[in-house]
Amino acid sequence: MLIGKDSVVSIQYTLSNDSGEVIDQSQEGEPLVYLHGAAGIIPGLEKELAGKVAGDDFSVTIAPEEAYGDHHPEMIQEVPRASFPADVDIQAGMQFNAESPQGAQTVVVKQVTADTVTVDGNHPLAGLTLNFKGKIDDVRQATAEELDHGHAH
Ligand code: ZN
Repeated sequence: MLIGKDSVVSIQYTLSNDSGEVIDQSQEGEPLVYLHGAAGIIPGLEKELAGKVAGDDFSVTIAPEEAYGDHHPEMIQEVPRASFPADVDIQAGMQFNAESPQGAQTVVVKQVTADTVTVDGNHPLAGLTLNFKGKIDDVRQATAEELDHGHAH
């Protein structure tokens, strides 16, 4: 069947940045499974896969606006060390959930000093052009339960 709304799709993929560096890839025998039309994957990739069938290959370059959006410098903020739990050893690379006016948001610690912590609320892939290459493993109709939940099981 053709990939379209309410299809459950399994893909093998390799994701690389514009320098050809591999950022992410599906593991052998563990394809990415998603419900088409439910915003489960980035819009640019979903568009590219629509209308394809199991066995098809794909190769697509996706601009940030169709991927994880632009990188917003204002989402990098310095906050007082005191707003983090005193008993946690805060280090660069750690992730925290923060409340923002836009709702819950994951932030990554960039830098720590004695008094301040610099956190970045951008998605790690924000601002990047993404290159996806791969193959479609399987396409099937979503079950009623999957449609109800809005994701693939
Ligand atoms: Zn579910």
